[in-house]
Amino acid sequence: MYKIPLFDLNYSKEEEEAVLKTLRSKWISMGPNVSKLEEEFAKHLNIKHAIAVTNCTAALHLALKILGIKEGDEVIVPSLTFVATVNAVRYVNAIPVFADITSYEDFSIDPADIETKITSRTKAIIAMHYGGFACDMNRIMELAKKYNIFVVEDAAHAPDSEYNGNKLGTIGDIGCFSFFSNKNITCAEGGMLATNNDEYAKKANLLRAHGMTSLSYERAKGHATKYDVIELGYNYRMDDIRGALALTQFKKLKEDVKKREKLRQIYLKELENIDNIIILYKNHPYKSTNYIFPIVLKNSNVEKRDRIRQKLAEAGIQTSVQYPAVHRFSIYEKYKVDLPITEYVTDNEITLPLFYNLTTNEIKYISKTLRNIL
Ligand SMILES: *Cc1c(COP(=O)(O)O)cnc(C)c1O
Repeated sequence: MYKIPLFDLNYSKEEEEAVLKTLRSKWISMGPNVSKLEEEFAKHLNIKHAIAVTNCTAALHLALKILGIKEGDEVIVPSLTFVATVNAVRYVNAIPVFADITSYEDFSIDPADIETKITSRTKAIIAMHYGGFACDMNRIMELAKKYNIFVVEDAAHAPDSEYNGNKLGTIGDIGCFSFFSNKNITCAEGGMLATNNDEYAKKANLLRAHGMTSLSYERAKGHATKYDVIELGYNYRMDDIRGALALTQFKKLKEDVKKREKLRQIYLKELENIDNIIILYKNHPYKSTNYIFPIVLKNSNVEKRDRIRQKLAEAGIQTSVQYPAVHRFSIYEKYKVDLPITEYVTDNEITLPLFYNLTTNEIKYISKTLRNIL
């Protein structure tokens, strides 16, 4: 429908073959592919444990559960995120406390605003690494230490991003990753929970599979013949068909990130002389996965932004808004606070297309069209 979609899969023969091979193996639920994926992902992150789950939302839910977050506890969250970040807080009946983002150029949760929102009930902070660009983890970890609170990293955008030599998702207590269909690497629906803490990992393994002490694959292999149930768990397992897809995609991650960085540089050059837009993370010092390419309109409002998006659509260019602010959703009415930077950004942000197979000419066309519209 669109000449240039917002996102396009980087799938080829390899994904088809990996799925077929798994189907023909006749082991389709969690098994060898998922184990291999976990092993490789943990190695890639340089972390002790990576536990595959159905999606990142499940990983976030488990993270809060494992950390003992419960009814009445407060969790500080960004509002400029996908709603799942905040829904996870509600799953454990805790209270989401929204903090603003840092600036129009940096959409990361603002450590200064986090600190003003810490109370005796605050139990955790969820740091979401927007677009794959790292939050100010030094300051967030300092706050966590000072006030004795946990840090969960929502690294859904950041499977290969870094901060001071560490991979994102490995700095806080638990990191959560997504393999949803529009993420850097994807198996349609999938996620990963990463941690260096042995106890948390043990708990994650239990909770993703009904709280059972042994799994069907182990029993099929003869490693176990019975099981006990020792926790009230969930069914958050990844199946081995998705495991095969994710493994194949994981092999393309390095190349994907390299290509996206190149495409970002082309965007920066093509958009250089447009006065009315803000380019984000211009001097960001760390490696980013460049999950998306967002811009913010200057001196604008929501009607103007929507008109510009409409014109881009008429020129065949699909765009998005990342994100509608969570604190404005109906179900979060009760938790609403003033977040002036988030509110301006959510009304004036446009996400331009960015994906592995996007071409230089397409970026030139998008940039030229945008310049003309403005
Ligand atoms: C995609 C996304 C999620 C949810 O991931 P799923 O795998 O779809 O559950 C959570 N947080 C952020 C920031 C996301 O972009």
